[in-house]
Amino acid sequence: MTFDVLIAGAGPAGLSAAIALKKADSSLSVCLIEKSAEIGGHIVSGALIDPKAIKELLPEYSFEDLGLTTPVSEEKLFFLTEKQKIAIPFVPFLLPSKNNHGNYALSLSEFCKKLAEIAEELGVEIYPGFAGAKLAFENQKLVGIITGDMGRDRHDAPKSDFMPGMLLRAKQTILAEGARGSLTTHAKRHFNLCRDSDPETYGLGIKEVWEIPAENHRPGFIQHSFGWPLDGKTYGGGFLYHFGKNLVSYGFVIALDYKNPWLSPFEEMQRLKTHPAFSEHFKGGRRIAYGARALTEGGWQSLPKLSFPGGILVGDCAGFLNVPRLKGIHTAMKSGMLGAEAILEALKNNADQATTFEEKFKNSWLAKELYQARNIRPAFAKLGTFLASPYVFLDETLFRGQLPWTLHHREEDSDSFHNADEMPEIIYPRPDNKLTFDRPSSVYLANISHDDNQPNHLLIGSTQTWEERNWDQFKGPETRFCPAGVYGAEPNPDKPGYHILQISPQNCLHCKTCVIKDVRQELEWIPPEGGSGPNYGNGM
Ligand SMILES: Cc1cc2nc3c(=O)[nH]c(=O)nc-3n(C[C@H](O)[C@H](O)[C@H](O)COP(=O)(O)OP(=O)(O)OC[C@H]3O[C@@H](n4cnc5c(N)ncnc54)[C@H](O)[C@@H]3O)c2cc1C
Ligand code: SF4
Repeated sequence: MTFDVLIAGAGPAGLSAAIALKKADSSLSVCLIEKSAEIGGHIVSGALIDPKAIKELLPEYSFEDLGLTTPVSEEKLFFLTEKQKIAIPFVPFLLPSKNNHGNYALSLSEFCKKLAEIAEELGVEIYPGFAGAKLAFENQKLVGIITGDMGRDRHDAPKSDFMPGMLLRAKQTILAEGARGSLTTHAKRHFNLCRDSDPETYGLGIKEVWEIPAENHRPGFIQHSFGWPLDGKTYGGGFLYHFGKNLVSYGFVIALDYKNPWLSPFEEMQRLKTHPAFSEHFKGGRRIAYGARALTEGGWQSLPKLSFPGGILVGDCAGFLNVPRLKGIHTAMKSGMLGAEAILEALKNNADQATTFEEKFKNSWLAKELYQARNIRPAFAKLGTFLASPYVFLDETLFRGQLPWTLHHREEDSDSFHNADEMPEIIYPRPDNKLTFDRPSSVYLANISHDDNQPNHLLIGSTQTWEERNWDQFKGPETRFCPAGVYGAEPNPDKPGYHILQISPQNCLHCKTCVIKDVRQELEWIPPEGGSGPNYGNGM
């Protein structure tokens, strides 16, 4: 099958690109594939949306029609110690990155469904349940994507319902896979797209949705926290948004350059809920959804080349998220829209590469926003929370991001662990199953569907290097950082003193943390059969 434009990924970036393309030229054939069984099924976000890009893309729709029904009405920012909360006096002018006035709290999964409806009405062909497995090249040009085979058994042999993957050809391909996309990683290597950029750094976001009694619900109330339970050298914090019908979105984001291999992001997220600043919001409520996803934190200085022969990168797979604002939706949308403009020009001129994307980006509000925010995340990495805070005041408040230097990211997240025997072991409290929970009961709420009888999509590489590096040096950090408990380490019965890695791929939430944080960078994450993985709903 051949299209003018093929898009991989139905997040805000891919869907905005699709809509922008068809709005500009309804005669184009635009195809979009999505690996989740339904649109929105793999989407995890806060989400507070800055409606800037929506106003540009869909001016003919009211916010209400698009599901933006909970405007932010009250906001709080806390620095937490184990027992205390210190409210940071909030003056929007002084802390512009924390100002959410004019933003809306929503479920991004639902919003993507709405965008997909609009795209389909415009004539975009959308195929959920199809994972892009491989890139197809001809003469050093990307010519399309090969979708994954369906119906192979765990030994890779075809089953009775076997359907081989298809080559979807396109004049231009848009990769919109979100953070650490598998096709994107391949394209970045193939075209050396990161040759002039800093290493990409990431965070892991873990989220729950709660339904609470109507009398406790405060629509539009939002809160962010930093400090406890993280130490001063680890970047991250919590968020809590009241939205929709009696729903509360609670989440925790931790930068994946954390140093202590004993740390478990999942357990940190659970114990943050017990702090009085958060626990009061869950009273009388019940948890109805759980999910996790990596997000990009490199920002301006980690952006790769945006175009290459035959395609472009948009959204989180390029790294357009504004980290201090924890906002990547409007930036993903805008990057999709700018990418669409560049592709239209390339198609019109019969050019192989949408080279004008870079320039369009540099001249947009998106570039201005990311440039202004560029020093905040690296300042925290270099200085830690306490020293970075006055620096942020200087950089963000006084100089509005215009200081004449750019701080750099020096290290890949996979290099940040210190040896396990040099770091304090962390003993986490047991869950009470009312406010705090374990991983299996959490994963249950992600509605995963994954046929066990299919090839393993998590290729861990050499077991010897796993033993020597991951186990001996770091005591199996994947058993703690995977938010789904996919990895376990058991004593090796044949080799006393050694351990073997156990994998339960059927629990995978597709968050991508293991590929980012694997200390050997040998682990490969291959998209499993299309339609596998979580089926997020319930306000995710
Ligand atoms: C916990 C958390 C909280 C956040 N809070 C906020 C917030 O409050 N406000 C905000 O603005 N931003 C927030 N963000 C960031 C925001 O969600 C992302 O920046 C944004 O979703 C990026 O959009 P995207 O389209 O690039 O990627 P994604 O939203 O990740 O979408 C990518 C899509 O591509 C699909 N896909 C991936 N690979 C393939 C493949 N090979 N084949 C087919 N399909 C594929 C995925 O299944 C997915 O549906 C948050 C993120 C997290 C994790
Ligand atoms: S196996 Fe990897 S991608 Fe899957 S949930 Fe665990 S860390 Fe995330």
